Amino acid sequence: MDYDVIIIGAGPGGIYSAYELKKRRPKLKVGVFEAGQELSKRHCPIDGVKVKTCINCKSCSIMSGFGGAGAFSDGKYNITNDFGGTLYEHIGRNEAIELMKYVDQINVENGGGDTKLYSTAGTNLKKVCLQNKLKLLDASVRHLGTDINYVVLENLYAYLKDTIDFHFMTSVESIEVIDGGYKVLYAGGSATCSHCIISVGRSGSKWMETICEELQIPAKSNRVDIGVRVELPAVIFSHLTDELYESKIVYRTEKFEDNVRTFCMNPHGIVVNENTNGIITVNGHSYEGKEKQTENTNFALLVAKHFSMPFKDSNGYGESIARLSNMLGGGVIVQRFGDLVRGRRSNEKRIEEGLVQPTLNATPGDLSLVLPKRIMDGIIEMIYALDKIAPGTANDDTLLYGVEVKFYNMEVLVDEHLETVYPGLYIIGDGSGVTHSLSHASASGVYVANRIIATYD
Ligand SMILES: Cc1cc2nc3c(=O)[nH]c(=O)nc-3n(C[C@H](O)[C@H](O)[C@H](O)COP(=O)(O)OP(=O)(O)OC[C@H]3O[C@@H](n4cnc5c(N)ncnc54)[C@H](O)[C@@H]3O)c2cc1C
Repeated sequence: MDYDVIIIGAGPGGIYSAYELKKRRPKLKVGVFEAGQELSKRHCPIDGVKVKTCINCKSCSIMSGFGGAGAFSDGKYNITNDFGGTLYEHIGRNEAIELMKYVDQINVENGGGDTKLYSTAGTNLKKVCLQNKLKLLDASVRHLGTDINYVVLENLYAYLKDTIDFHFMTSVESIEVIDGGYKVLYAGGSATCSHCIISVGRSGSKWMETICEELQIPAKSNRVDIGVRVELPAVIFSHLTDELYESKIVYRTEKFEDNVRTFCMNPHGIVVNENTNGIITVNGHSYEGKEKQTENTNFALLVAKHFSMPFKDSNGYGESIARLSNMLGGGVIVQRFGDLVRGRRSNEKRIEEGLVQPTLNATPGDLSLVLPKRIMDGIIEMIYALDKIAPGTANDDTLLYGVEVKFYNMEVLVDEHLETVYPGLYIIGDGSGVTHSLSHASASGVYVANRIIATYD
């Protein structure tokens, strides 16, 4: 075999597999095949001046390359089984938490030492939430920030690169089962291995579907989260963000009994565009360094849509809604909450006169023409519920950007070792549909590396 272990994808899942293999079995020959660039070469050409919109680069620097989709993320590292994936269903609750803590420690040792670990343990805010029909989920979160997250990745790459073969700009096209292992095929070549870890994340979702079909690995897809990103003065949420940094709060709507939840909270952050398969959606992040912080806080309000048979294309449903906002607004639409509840579109003048300065240049418009009524009603109800614990949330000038969509990979059938029906072929991270976060994806990487190491003991 060319390699003992081949890892496909150098996002958090792949990186922490490689890290653990190197640390515990330095003699194993490990190759990492990554569709994107190495970290220092990852640059999105959108500068807002010469290049304003996505030009569909051969490899998207935001989603692909060393560090994966997480490289320029906010670096919110959540240690919890309450959200971020269902890794615990496969490996057990305690093991999942221990591995997330283990990875957190590695991040701390590799540049994250000065960052703070926030926790919901013992907070009075839980009671305040419950008194207002809101549920605060349990978690510890370390905010690395986009800047420190990058430093950690630089240090991890420096640790790995001399002994692990990295093949950048090498998109794996297919995998063949061979005697005693696997053959990984890419444009212009192939490599063989005894163990293969697939960690292709969100950007590899379509490829993952093809591989599952070719190798007849069962998979199911039925979920998409749709909503808006809320932006308001940071001071309105400061009692929550100062204590918890990010609060994951769930509200059950009175009208439809749907769950609406806060997601990806960015104190003093910025709202940004995200490009998924050419569709522009909205996201947000924030920096740890004070000089780059803003006066606003942003977070998403999302409603999960689960579909039942015969409909299978939940991501297609989310894409269609996002396309509608792109059709009406040429990209992301922004609307004042006051305009939304009065049933009128926002325009440049009303946004300019408002008390919240938008951090993203989006098109003023009407989100009620884009989002299904049931989702829109749920979001409005949640904003009024949040207003009770953070007065000012439902102010007229609160900005809503749409749409925010969280696409989920289909969930592939893997066992308690994250191993497929093929011995030695593992599927981990967001590409497996089991994880949806930095922490769960990283932990799944360490878990599988340990499993492989055990086969050599
Ligand atoms: C803007 C943004 C902000 C985010 N913020 C946070 C946050 O604050 N906290 C949090 O927990 N999560 C956050 N996330 C989610 C987090 O980044 C992901 O959950 C995490 O990166 C998943 O890790 P992964 O290794 O499974 O996949 P990925 O990080 O997606 O990495 C997969 C890698 O595989 C490569 N690949 C794909 N197909 C192939 C192929 N065929 N051949 C070779 N290589 C391939 C890709 O190029 C990519 O580099 C954010 C995501 C985005 C986009």
